[in-house]
Amino acid sequence: MDLILLGAPGAGKGTQSSLLAERLGMEKIATGDILRDAVRRGTELGLEAKAFMDAGELVPDAVIFGLVKSALSAPAAEAGAIFDGFPRNVPQAQKLEEILDEMGRTLGAVVVIDVPEEMLVRRMSGRRTDPETGNVYHIEHNPPPADIAGRVVQRDDDLEETVRHRLQVYRAATEPLISFYESAEVPVYHVRGDRSIDLVREEIVGLIGR
Ligand code: AMP
Repeated sequence: MDLILLGAPGAGKGTQSSLLAERLGMEKIATGDILRDAVRRGTELGLEAKAFMDAGELVPDAVIFGLVKSALSAPAAEAGAIFDGFPRNVPQAQKLEEILDEMGRTLGAVVVIDVPEEMLVRRMSGRRTDPETGNVYHIEHNPPPADIAGRVVQRDDDLEETVRHRLQVYRAATEPLISFYESAEVPVYHVRGDRSIDLVREEIVGLIGR
């Protein structure tokens, strides 16, 4: 079974998808992480994606489809994938349906993490990532352990102006996926993401029934 985590930037998809992947023995597929890794390594993909990412715009769909296909065909994803940051618009959702169909896989559920907008902006400005593990922390609410505090970094696109633009892109392009999946009769669950990381995780585990 595959699962999608939906929610605005800063809603906690990265944190929750890592925790859930570990807990449920599934593979996290985070297109943003794959793209950031390509940017860091200076690959062709990274060069192509960087300007879009820095501007808070979506990277072209064709680029994303290649990434997702190869991530899904990895042996680690056989038992199930948790998508974080994909799909981001209706064409991507349609493509995902096609890819899953071809592979004989099914989308089990969509979990939407809801967080009030002002909280999203505050969260993102304090967000830090460990470049070695991809784990996400917050300088106040979830500080990194002392031994890695020196190496955590802030994402270039977590600057306030870019954050506001990313929220607009979310509302215009990604939020319509909620009704897309409701009409497709995929179970869509909403969880309140303005609570502790553990509570949100336990609620999601309960909802998806594993
Ligand atoms: P994220 O880490 O999911 O917030 O993604 C960071 C940035 O990577 C986004 O603002 C986009 O520029 C790009 N990105 C990540 N996933 C996608 C996607 N599925 N489609 C288009 N662009 C994406």
